[in-house]
Parts: sequence; structure tokens; C-alpha cells
Amino acid sequence: MIDDSIIELGILTALAELGGGARRKEVLGAIERRFGALLELDDTRRRPSGRDVVWKNRASFVRNALVDQGLLQPTRCSGWGVWALTARGEARAATLASEVVLCPAFRSIAIDVAGRMRDGHSVGLVPGETTFTDNALLHLAVNFRASIRIQRFTVNQEASNGADWEWWIRERHGYVGFRVQAKRVHPHLGRVALDQPAAKGVRSRFPRQIDAFSENCRRDRIAGLYCMYNDARLATSGLVLAPPGPCPHGPDNADLWGCSLVLVDTAMRLANDRALDASTVLGAGIPWHRLVCRSTRRTLTASVFDAFSQMRAAELALRRRVRERRGERMANHPSEPELGPAPAVEPPEEVLEAFIQGHGFVEHSRSEDLAGLVLIDATRAADLAARQ
Ligand SMILES: [Zn+2]
Repeated sequence: MIDDSIIELGILTALAELGGGARRKEVLGAIERRFGALLELDDTRRRPSGRDVVWKNRASFVRNALVDQGLLQPTRCSGWGVWALTARGEARAATLASEVVLCPAFRSIAIDVAGRMRDGHSVGLVPGETTFTDNALLHLAVNFRASIRIQRFTVNQEASNGADWEWWIRERHGYVGFRVQAKRVHPHLGRVALDQPAAKGVRSRFPRQIDAFSENCRRDRIAGLYCMYNDARLATSGLVLAPPGPCPHGPDNADLWGCSLVLVDTAMRLANDRALDASTVLGAGIPWHRLVCRSTRRTLTASVFDAFSQMRAAELALRRRVRERRGERMANHPSEPELGPAPAVEPPEEVLEAFIQGHGFVEHSRSEDLAGLVLIDATRAADLAARQ
């Protein structure tokens, strides 16, 4: 059953996006679009009275509790059938929109990907990685109109080596940036093509796509991640995967592995070792919602850094063990960094400019390999919260 805290989150943020007040039906529609994949059979069945489905009925009770907390207006103020935020509710929603909401949306997208992969497999029509990426980005853009801006560089689409997207998150105290390349686990072979040859134009310099991706990340001093779309059957069949971390936004679910993140350095090691079966590759990653999952006291950027730190520490520890087994010493070449760059904290000029201008566009990307940019601006909401 969907958690009441998710419904509460949904009501507050949906109302904020709908201008502070809206009819119950509109609010529930907005929640369903955003968190629909989190609804379970129990939630979507009709109540015995037949008049309402279970989760919508529960949403009315959650709404009443929010009225009691002074976050929503009572019916005598908002009008019959209309739900509306109070000033306190608006301030609360602003904080939530910037700091809490991303994780449930990421969870929802991952569950959706896992389901579509399985559906596709059952009829021999599994979507490609660009379709999954487009759907995920569309979901984020539509549901976070105020804080997320997604820009595709159309000129780079053809030239792009592997459709790398650069992500930047802005908070009051700073920025964090990283790059993501998507890969789909082969639906029949259960294999991840990390050994895919590079595009023809760059093959003289980089034999494989991953060499180009890793090298471009190093050149631009920004962390790189692989996002692996998969059907999550590995997670359900009990193969060895890292245990999910604590997430206050919902219960553990194998389908959360539908979008799994693997550090580019880890992917490179696996590609070099030709260890490309899905269980090995996914076992070296984390479900992508953990990148943006935060408890109420922490900031979004801190969560991102944390997730990267854990992945990097795990990769270093593993490399150390391998070397010890081989009897090699760890720091043979101290001048050569063991891993690629950590997440970037200083956005390039054009990204900075786009953030400062609110919804400004980036005219030229700094790398011809970039398919586009995902800009997440959490500052305005945080400022609102600071003023209350
Ligand atoms: Zn979470």
C-alpha cells in the first residue's frame, strides 16, 4: 500500500504547482501522474461502497489531517470540493518541492522501467535506451516544471557518442554536477554492452564508447555514471546485489533496481575484465533513487555527494583487494589518480548563466558528446523556506 507520507507529499506539492488551490479531482490526478507507479493493487481497487478507489479515499483523510495541522484551508474557506494551501502550507510545500520530492519520482520511474522491460520482453518488443531516457526526462520535466529544466542539444544528437547527459543541481550553498550515459541490459542475453565500439568518427582515438565517455569526463573534470535500465528480475531472483539503503520515501522493492547507477570507473574495470553479465554489473551499482534520497535534515547536494562517496569507496576497496591478491602494491603511481573525477562543484560558465537567468537556455554545450543538460534548481524554494 502506498504510504500516507507519499500522499501527503503529493497533495502539498501538487497544490503548490496548481497555484495553491485546485479541485480534489485535479489534485488526485496530479498525484497519480507523479507517483502512479507506486500505487499497488490494494490501493487501486474500489471500496466496498463502490464510490471511490481506496487510495483516493485515504487521500481525503490525509487532506483532513493537513487541515488540522494548519497546512490546508478548511472547507469553509476553500469552498466545497476545493483543496487549498494556507500560507504555512505554501512555505512547507516550497521546502518539500526542493528537497524531498525527487526521490519518490525517481523510485516511480525505476519501477516503471522495470515493468516496461518485462512487458516488452513478453511480446518481443523491448524499448531502446533512448526511449527509456526520453520517458524518464519527460516525467521529470513535466512533474517539476518549477525546478527542473531539461535541454536537449539537437545538433549533437547524431554526433553524440553514447547520448551523455550532464546533470547539475543548484542549492543555496552550492552546486553539484555529474554525467550520465544510459545502457539497457540486453533483454535476452542478460548482458550489458559496456564493450560497445565507439562511434566511427572517434574510433581512432577511443576503441570503445566507454573509453570516450571516461576520457571526456576526465577532460571536463566531472564525475561519470552509467544508468542501467533493466527488468529487475535479477533483483527478484535473489542474486547477490548490494542491500538497499534506508529510504524514508517508501518500502524496498526489487523493481527500484530498474534504473541502476554504476560508477564509470567500476564500469571500466568490468569492461576490461569482460565481466559484463547483468548480475555482476548491477551488483556493483545502486538503485538510482538513492542518489537523490534524503532524510528531512539533509540537503540534496549532500545526498548526491554521499552516494558518490560510497560508490567510490566501494570501488577503491575492491581494487585494493584485487591488487593484494595479486601481490601488487596499491600506490604504484601516486601521480596517477586511481579513479576519475568526483562530482563537479563549479558549473561551466554557460550553465551558471542559465541558472542565474532562471529558465535561461544554454546555446552551446562545452562538449560535442553531450546530448543535453538536466538543470535542477532548488534555490528559490529553499529561499522561501528560509524567509518564513
Ligand atoms: Zn528516498
